[in-house]
Amino acid sequence: MQLLDGKLTANTLKDEIAIEVNSIIAKGGKKPHLAAILVGSNGASETYVNAKVKACDKVGFDSTLVRLDANVSEEILLNEVRKINENSAIDGLIVQLPLPKHISESKVTEKIVPEKDVDGFHPINLGRMMLNLPSFLPATPAGILELLERYEIETSGKHCVVIGRSNIVGSPMSVLMARNTKIGNCTVTLTHSRTTNLKEISRTADILIVALGKPEFVTADMVKEGAVIVDVGITRVKSEITKSGWKLKGDVAFDEVAPKCSFITPVPGGVGPMTIASLLKNTLISAKQRK
Ligand code: NAD
Repeated sequence: MQLLDGKLTANTLKDEIAIEVNSIIAKGGKKPHLAAILVGSNGASETYVNAKVKACDKVGFDSTLVRLDANVSEEILLNEVRKINENSAIDGLIVQLPLPKHISESKVTEKIVPEKDVDGFHPINLGRMMLNLPSFLPATPAGILELLERYEIETSGKHCVVIGRSNIVGSPMSVLMARNTKIGNCTVTLTHSRTTNLKEISRTADILIVALGKPEFVTADMVKEGAVIVDVGITRVKSEITKSGWKLKGDVAFDEVAPKCSFITPVPGGVGPMTIASLLKNTLISAKQRK
């Protein structure tokens, strides 16, 4: 078994991005600039946004973090999005999800101009992805593709099973793995909460991508010998041994599954860092397109 080391790979990618930023600045260009909007103070969202801002710093990007109260109206949030859309100094905008119940996530996502939608959630970007046209790919699926490519995982002709059909991970992942591209050309099965024979299906996967948000859901009996496993899940669970009182768990029971597979992502240190690196990559692309 070999680890698909997302932390290491993301650091390599960030080093490559930093080199490009330096060269843009050396030629008199401006630093790429990512803006993030955080509504409320949900612990996990706070951690993710802080990690994104820190990553911007590391690669030499400017960043702006707009914090809004959990009770903020949808109208005020949409107005913040509009201001950033119109701010020519900013190249990319993300609104950290989930949003409070009284705000429509789709309305907010659709308000972001597609040219700055570096999370790749806007219908225009998702539609262009479907057609294999240039677009910002959703950051997590894009990070997974990059990880598989850098580890030279053979995907062509393989059976890829995706567990979870969210708009931001499972559904786009299933489309990308079926495309006629270098990392792609799989026969894909997309499974979800209504799938009745999940274990039978997952046991036939050469590549198993798991994104459902249930800690240690995938056990050894659900996995084929030699499979490649990508664990997207991140759930905070209580811990008596960490200072913070919690730790992160993936959707795969790592200790029992790892010995069976050829490659597996750890949690933490797998897909999470790759998502952030992809977000930076999308922001760099946006900055280059806008200059
Ligand atoms: P979600 O929470 O929106 O949806 C969960 C999906 O899992 C649904 O499509 C549902 O049909 C499916 N599901 C639920 N129970 C199931 C079952 N018993 N069998 C099969 N399918 C089932 O999904 P999401 O937003 O993609 O998040 C999934 C997990 O990935 C969460 O833990 C989230 O925190 C994590 N996540 C991680 C990253 C990262 O960068 N590593 C990014 C996004 C999401």
